Amino acid sequence: MSAGGLARKLAKLGLRSRLDFVLHLPLRYEDETTLTPVGEAPAGRPVCVEAVVQRAEVAYRPRRQLIVHAEGLVLRFFHFYPSQLKQFERAAENGQRVRAFGEVKPGWFGAEMAHPRYRLVREGEPLPQALTPVYPTTAGLSQAELRSRILAALDDGPLEDTLPAPVLARHGLAPFAESVQRLHRPPPGEQAEGLEDRAHPAWRRVKFDELLAQQLSMRFAYRSRRARAAPALPSDGPLLTRFLGSLPFALTAAQRRVMDEILADLASPHPMQRLLQGDVGSGKTILAAIACLAAADGGFQSAVMAPTELLSEQHYRKFREWLSPLDVEVLWLRGGQSRAERKALLQALQAPGPKVAIGTHALVQEGVDFARLALAVVDEQHRFGVHQRLSLRNKGRGAEALPHQLMMSATPIPRTLSMTYYADLDVSTIDELPPGRRPVATRLVAAARRPEVLARIRAACAEGQQAYWVCPVIEESPEGEMQAATATHATLAAELRGLAVGLLHGRLPAQEKAATMQRFAAGEIQLLVSTTVVEVGVDVPNASLMVIESAERFGLSQLHQLRGRVGRGARESVCILLFSDNLSATARERLKIIYENADGFEVARRDLELRGPGEFLGERQSGVPMLRFAELERDRDLVEAARSAAAELMDRYPEAARAHVARWLGSREDLSHA
Ligand code: ADP
Ligand code: MG
Repeated sequence: MSAGGLARKLAKLGLRSRLDFVLHLPLRYEDETTLTPVGEAPAGRPVCVEAVVQRAEVAYRPRRQLIVHAEGLVLRFFHFYPSQLKQFERAAENGQRVRAFGEVKPGWFGAEMAHPRYRLVREGEPLPQALTPVYPTTAGLSQAELRSRILAALDDGPLEDTLPAPVLARHGLAPFAESVQRLHRPPPGEQAEGLEDRAHPAWRRVKFDELLAQQLSMRFAYRSRRARAAPALPSDGPLLTRFLGSLPFALTAAQRRVMDEILADLASPHPMQRLLQGDVGSGKTILAAIACLAAADGGFQSAVMAPTELLSEQHYRKFREWLSPLDVEVLWLRGGQSRAERKALLQALQAPGPKVAIGTHALVQEGVDFARLALAVVDEQHRFGVHQRLSLRNKGRGAEALPHQLMMSATPIPRTLSMTYYADLDVSTIDELPPGRRPVATRLVAAARRPEVLARIRAACAEGQQAYWVCPVIEESPEGEMQAATATHATLAAELRGLAVGLLHGRLPAQEKAATMQRFAAGEIQLLVSTTVVEVGVDVPNASLMVIESAERFGLSQLHQLRGRVGRGARESVCILLFSDNLSATARERLKIIYENADGFEVARRDLELRGPGEFLGERQSGVPMLRFAELERDRDLVEAARSAAAELMDRYPEAARAHVARWLGSREDLSHA
């Protein structure tokens, strides 16, 4: 192989620096320390055998293959290089032996092995003393080649421990060099099962280091942002005071606690970096408004970004209702605005004076500039990519100061996950629903019982209530999704003659969406047929019935979010999950979870279990490099340990902290926290 070819293959495996090689850990181990006579090989278990090579040939039946005849054993290769044929022919001439590792099976010519790993040896060549590691590799790069590179990297000078001895001792950790040596070069007598089990002390050290690097890099990012300047905002200015004196409802204890946390952050001359999480309907929006008023009291602007046009409009209306009496200007940046309108808005943002701008990601577009942005609120933050989230922050007033940041999310993150992925944020949690809410009753109903569901909708509407009918997601075709919703709307309107049935989907012009939503909010539409556009944030308290069609096609957090659209008023609400025949086992499991759990945290925990953190968050969204070695749920104790070690290191051993991040993340470090 050419040097360039080799380098390319290694690069494909992500192997460039010394540490990349050192951390390219075995998938498993093979035991070649003893030879098994071919005749005694047990069925179903790989063994190491040795036999004299007699001849080699390429046969074409049933398909092209290399057949190597050795004494009492046939080896078969369906993928091979011409050089391999030559190699075996030469071995046959020289009376060499083949030492092969694999499963022996009975075949046409007697004992056979298909695609064994093999080595040509002379008689009496000593067996390895210890287990042979098997590495993840790529086509055309042999285990032997890869192994020799890795061992060379291991031996390329001392591998210093990044962690001070007291830290190792406190967490009962093995030294780093010893751990990686052990994994790559198991000592004689070490058993494969022990090493392959990732609870082995050597593995634990590697996983700990990985988690620690992640914690440290996020803390460094947090600290460097925290060192920047931000306007200190008053907690007791006249606007906020007036607003709190005339709230439309009394804040819950949890809302008051979170308000104090937010206001304390805002009062400091450094940027707040806070995540506010609270289940659907827990009342996060009013806290955003409170934060905006603190900014307004300081004479500053705020921006509130929402993931959908629908939600941004709803926020706009709510904020206007709350803030207009205080003479705080509320602006709405939306799609489909005329040039003149947009120009006027952009000019208003350039002018000083307190105001609140609300919009979708249109807020972070080119050309949108704020004169005095002091606060950036991102609602349903998990719906945005990192870059969108961060670009709102960068709409601040130049390099020296950053706006305060408030991220809000109704997708509660299980604790282990939030400890790792939100380690660079302060987290506030609203763990209480406003009083008088009754839990939504969830019903699982077979699609065949649709007529009963229709009767139920009629009855609810007759009592002055309203209902949603959500049509299934069609991932691969938004077009088809729209058609399905349109067809369902027509059918339901015919079946429920006399009821005002509205239609909402993502492809409608913004104006029409807004008008429909408004008519639903005003009670003019009784049944709203919709795609998942109503999933996030939509708040119409009079709606008390939610029907989700083909519920088995939705994800868990999606179902939970949708269910959260009802149960917002004082009335008992019901969520009907219509399911089709022939449910798969996972679909059944999902429906069972949503049926049994009303608590968003529990739903999220189960969702995480089912999907794993990668899918649950998505690398693009989290902006945090995924873990290669550690598993959050399984290694919960290590996550805790790494978190406390990170604090200790930053405090007492800053050099070690820096060295550790450099070792693990190197040039990738800036990527995680742009
Ligand atoms: P979410 O946390 O899902 O964004 P919202 O902020 O939309 O929730 O609030 C849900 C509903 O509850 C809204 O109608 C809101 O006005 C109302 N609400 C919020 N806080 C309270 C409270 N303390 N008491 C009564 N109603 C409240
Ligand atoms: Mg909300």
